[in-house]
Amino acid sequence: MKLQFREPGINPAVLSGWEDAPPRKGFFTDTSICIGCKACEVACKEWNHVPEDGLEWLGTSYDNTGSLGASTWRHVAFIEQPIAKPASENGIASNGSANPDFRWLMSSDVCKHCTEAGCLDVCPTGALFRTEFGTVVVQDDICNGCGYCVPACPFGVIDRRDGSDSAKNVGIAQKCTLCYDRIGAGMTPACAQACPTESIQFGDLDELRVRAQERIELLHQQGNKSARLYGEDPNDGIGGAGAIFLLLDEPEVYGLPPNPVVTTRDLPEMWKRAGAAALALIVGLAAASLKR
Ligand code: SF4
Ligand code: SF4
Ligand code: SF4
Repeated sequence: MKLQFREPGINPAVLSGWEDAPPRKGFFTDTSICIGCKACEVACKEWNHVPEDGLEWLGTSYDNTGSLGASTWRHVAFIEQPIAKPASENGIASNGSANPDFRWLMSSDVCKHCTEAGCLDVCPTGALFRTEFGTVVVQDDICNGCGYCVPACPFGVIDRRDGSDSAKNVGIAQKCTLCYDRIGAGMTPACAQACPTESIQFGDLDELRVRAQERIELLHQQGNKSARLYGEDPNDGIGGAGAIFLLLDEPEVYGLPPNPVVTTRDLPEMWKRAGAAALALIVGLAAASLKR
């Protein structure tokens, strides 16, 4: 287990040993212009051969995939939210009236490609690795299915695939690769390529952060004061995300943790204390045996 360094703002690819790493790549997902078409989900499945993940009505929303998982690497949430706000802050009106009583929040969620990635920290086989683009990728031919990465992710992103024995990669941990094969060939990730509204924007993370800041300022000027950025702060509990979001409400409304913290952050301190306790025990035992 090799813990990532904690240096806010530093490209994690460089810290992982990539010499001459290119600018860090990532996503800016602007949920304010998502129309919930799910083209991103479908494009991801098609390009990456991700199997179908259930087509049942959930009974809780018009969404039918429910959440991110081993077979849903992009997930578009449909959140039907009751409101008592001016129409100018609404999403899609139910009946076209000037003052609908609810709004739709659509958000295409994905792996955050964390700067401090708990999944990567705990992987014992090296199946999870940091790419030269600063992204986090799992190699399905190296993963042994131990599942340590699953509880280590503060967002519940990575998971082992269920299914019949004949299905692909059953038992293996799976998640978004940020289309490592495509971006390595100078292409745009499939989900961003398919998005008709440019809700999903791909590029150099530094540029995306500037774009996200400009967009949030514009929304605030237009009176949408509840809009906010998520994952853009390099000083947050994961050192900032490689996939940042513009949300129209609190992160919890979208099922996102408000203050995510990398689950391995306290490990060095815990090891230090465990080592000190073990040392004290050995000294005590030695002293007791000398007294006999
Ligand atoms: S969001 Fe979870 S799976 Fe993705 S890099 Fe961060 S810890 Fe790993
Ligand atoms: S970047 Fe590629 S792997 Fe990740 S969600 Fe988009 S299409 Fe899927
Ligand atoms: S393709 Fe774009 S607009 Fe359609 S659901 Fe995905 S993010 Fe939203």
